Amino acid sequence: MEVLRASRAQDNAQCEQLSHFSESPAVPAVSPSQARDGLTDYSPTDRPWDEHRSIADDVGGIYASAVEFERYAARMDACAGLLRFGWVDTPETGESRLRLREAHFCRVRHCPVCQWRRSLMWQARFYQSLPALVEAHPKARWLFLTLTVRNCAIGELADTIKAMNAAWQRLKDRKEFKPVLGWVRTTEVTRGKDGTAHPHFHALLMVPPSWFKGSNYVKHARWVELWADCLRVDYLPNVDVRTVKPRSPRSGQTPLDATAQALQGAVSETLKYSTKPADMVADEAWFLELTKQTHRKRFVATGGALKHVLKVDQESDEDLALSDGEGSDDGSRLAFNWRTADQRYRRAPRADKSPD
Ligand SMILES: [Zn+2]
Repeated sequence: MEVLRASRAQDNAQCEQLSHFSESPAVPAVSPSQARDGLTDYSPTDRPWDEHRSIADDVGGIYASAVEFERYAARMDACAGLLRFGWVDTPETGESRLRLREAHFCRVRHCPVCQWRRSLMWQARFYQSLPALVEAHPKARWLFLTLTVRNCAIGELADTIKAMNAAWQRLKDRKEFKPVLGWVRTTEVTRGKDGTAHPHFHALLMVPPSWFKGSNYVKHARWVELWADCLRVDYLPNVDVRTVKPRSPRSGQTPLDATAQALQGAVSETLKYSTKPADMVADEAWFLELTKQTHRKRFVATGGALKHVLKVDQESDEDLALSDGEGSDDGSRLAFNWRTADQRYRRAPRADKSPD
């Protein structure tokens, strides 16, 4: 990764330059938008930081406009304001790349940065648990289930979600659900074009191979009936159920790798944001009401063999930074801070740290 090495050297040079000219009035040689000191100049794959932090500015702006949510706006304003990275060597390729080591997160439920980090954290935890799950249940299969209800008025969202949660409890007790070995269920709310709310569940179910045999098998039409019954509604709700197709390992792949790969789509769909940022900014009044209606509502539930997989109560800054991952470094830290005016993270050398 010659580019990164080069920019690291360039960085030191820039620091010297800065201190050299610190007495003279600040006349930047290049405009801020052209300066090559952005996070993406150092690490192009870190572009999602700019994207999520930028939309967090927009969502924070909506909260700032409503007195009762000003505190959310203030917390979000400080969310991931400063990121400190370490250089991690990858022995296989001889390259070194930036890895996030320190950041502070606001944990406002609908903060786009925090939603994104939480989704990555849950997905990482899921895959970390997979080897033990596959070892304990080598023949297990997976289903991806989406359960919906009719759209409701945004003002009825809290009651609707409450009714859906109660319906899920009933569903779990039905005999059809009994063979399920483990499950993870999340709640997503999208915005209907007419300003209604569309709450729905995504669930990942781990089932035994016997699920697909004889009377155990639950056909789509039966899922619809079951869900309508549990919801206690007189219409047929939309239900989507997909079997995750097992893949045979490609050359060099273990059966575990193949399972992880087969599960990718369903895992990322289940463990993602609860409301997409585009829906939040599309209609401010809708989003503020959504915030009220979902206050203190749990949007994730787990059970059976998957009960402890996500560790939903563990959500420290370190957890959301995913800083405990692979690779060690020399303790030096390269800092970037969010520049609202530039809509990107740029170098903040004064917040750097020297090696341990
Ligand atoms: Zn946040």
